Amino acid sequence: MTVGLLLDQLCDVVEEVIKRLTEPTESRRHLYGSIARNMVKTFQAYLPNCHRTYSCIHCRAHLANHDELISKSFQGSQGRAYLFNSVVNVGCGPAEERVLLTGLHAVADIYCECCKTTLGWKYEHAFESSQKYKEGKYIIELAHMIKENGWDSEPITNNH
Ligand SMILES: [Zn+2]
Repeated sequence: MTVGLLLDQLCDVVEEVIKRLTEPTESRRHLYGSIARNMVKTFQAYLPNCHRTYSCIHCRAHLANHDELISKSFQGSQGRAYLFNSVVNVGCGPAEERVLLTGLHAVADIYCECCKTTLGWKYEHAFESSQKYKEGKYIIELAHMIKENGWDSEPITNNH
């Protein structure tokens, strides 16, 4: 047997091993699935039940505490939007410069980390001094939120 042939055989074996390792079996797939579910559970943040909170209307993940609400008078692409000081369970896309009604801003789209729905945007940077108060704050469109806990069954409306 030549060295070349041996190498060929060795390559075949290595290839087979790699194929088996990367091809998830049914049980491994099941294991990955449960790990993924547990990770979501572990990393999803829960706000205190005693507070009025806003949740994702699509998956009910908590998004913000009512105490973190700064302003209700913002306009999103789908109607009214709220400005929050801080949010939870929210991921952030890359920042980009956009000219808004109030001037040039660097903003990043934000999305629900649980169901991946785009919720609104984050103000990364405001170029005009009058708009600086929005930096680092989050806009969530009303269309993506539901009120929970102690709101006296008051529905979300656009008439504030
Ligand atoms: Zn969601």
